[in-house]
Amino acid sequence: DGITLERVREHVWEIPREGDMRVPARVLASDRLLEQIGDDKTLQQLKNATHLPGITDHAICMPDGHQGYGFPVGGVGAMDAESGCISPGAVGYDINCGVRLMKTNLTYADVRGHEEELVEALFANVPSGLGGGGVVEGDRDTVEAVLERGVDWALEAGWAVPDDLEHCEDEGYRPDADPSAVSQKAKDRGKNQLGSLGSGNHFLEVQRVTDVYREDVADAYGLEPDRIVVLIHCGSRGLGHQTCTDYLRKIEKRHGDLLADLPDKELAAAPAGSELAEEYYGAMCACINFAWVNRQLIMHRVRQVFERVFDRSWEAMDMHLLYDVAHNIAKKETHEVQGEERELYVHRKGATRAFPAGHPEVPSAYRDVGQPIIIPGSMGAGSYVLRGGEASMDLTFGSTAHGAGRVMSRTQAKQEFWGETVQNELRDQEHVYVKAQSGATVAEEAPGVYKDVDEVVRVSDELGIGDKVARMYPVCNIKG
Ligand code: 5GP
Ligand code: MN
Ligand code: MN
Repeated sequence: DGITLERVREHVWEIPREGDMRVPARVLASDRLLEQIGDDKTLQQLKNATHLPGITDHAICMPDGHQGYGFPVGGVGAMDAESGCISPGAVGYDINCGVRLMKTNLTYADVRGHEEELVEALFANVPSGLGGGGVVEGDRDTVEAVLERGVDWALEAGWAVPDDLEHCEDEGYRPDADPSAVSQKAKDRGKNQLGSLGSGNHFLEVQRVTDVYREDVADAYGLEPDRIVVLIHCGSRGLGHQTCTDYLRKIEKRHGDLLADLPDKELAAAPAGSELAEEYYGAMCACINFAWVNRQLIMHRVRQVFERVFDRSWEAMDMHLLYDVAHNIAKKETHEVQGEERELYVHRKGATRAFPAGHPEVPSAYRDVGQPIIIPGSMGAGSYVLRGGEASMDLTFGSTAHGAGRVMSRTQAKQEFWGETVQNELRDQEHVYVKAQSGATVAEEAPGVYKDVDEVVRVSDELGIGDKVARMYPVCNIKG
């Protein structure tokens, strides 16, 4: 609706500052992706986000961007941590929704012929869907410990090995977590969801590596063509969702004055330094810990399933974590802004941290080549591993895309696609074995509802924010 974009240079577009915008907005996209991004409310939401107090440089939309609750999915907003704000809607309801990729030494040939058995075994053993139950049965004390300690809890409980922690963002632990800031209602929702995928867009996918683009980086990551890997996508389940809801309501109420100056109620934000900003940050960090444990439990369960199906120990199959990275998160980070070091709340909603080689926060195993980035495509398209690019700190506060990004609502998807047909076509034409709790889920997540992931990754690579390392293709997929 009349939002004009100016071309800055190849793949970089700007919504110039006007009216009460505090900064300009930027969209990183090719012509084709830009057209799709312009189809819904994404650009208006991005423009609205520039009104948030303390927003620095630009509000930024990644090439996979689409509309979300208030703040676009695929959005990055860095707000000053002293004079700015923190906004739950710019993190997203599914706090620390994210992805982890586990390697194996199996080849595609080892799995061919076992797909049906494998997909059934995974579906039977990895809890998914809306129903309760997780890999472990939690009580109140378990949830407290998980919120407080993150993956270190899983290590002590026998659901992780030290190597897993070394290959997780922040080693699977946010020290700023404050479990007391998470409501009992949220904790009760999380109790029986520890180690569960959830429904809809969340999935577990066995994939094969099809291409390697940067051999030295792929070597450092331990990826080679034809190898089998496992991609897990899920977040903090009902616990994170409840926490987002709790704080949106509290912030709307207490900081109505700030909200009154914003163009969209969904952008509700707590001023930096306020009690609610601190409480939300502590609660969010606790939910981040929970989500890391969630993905850890699922991954370890997958190891056990592979042990049974392939009759070998998981250690013998080299089932090691490549990396786990969040894509719905806000983090206090130090960035250089116009020659000055500043502490910022970097909000990445449907966006992935993409720190380059040499950055102290890149795990030591990858410090020389850059942080791994995991970009899922769809159950009928490629997924990618990238590495943090040299341009990311200047262009995007060290961030890139998080997926292909939707082009179609779930409602529209169910009119366009029929689950069983999608499933049969994938199996018969692509040798992809999908098992889901419902046909509707398959329709809602059909490959056709997503943008072209190859194009998203090309833009990231050409901008130098996240460089292509390897591509994978689905073999088996389970969905909630
Ligand atoms: P989101 O976190 O926004 O729900 O999803 C992240 C990305 O996952 C989506 O943008 C989409 O590209 C990708 N995706 C969704 N379903 C699947 C799937 O079944 N398999 C793979 N590989 N990717 C998927
Ligand atoms: Mn996600
Ligand atoms: Mn999610």
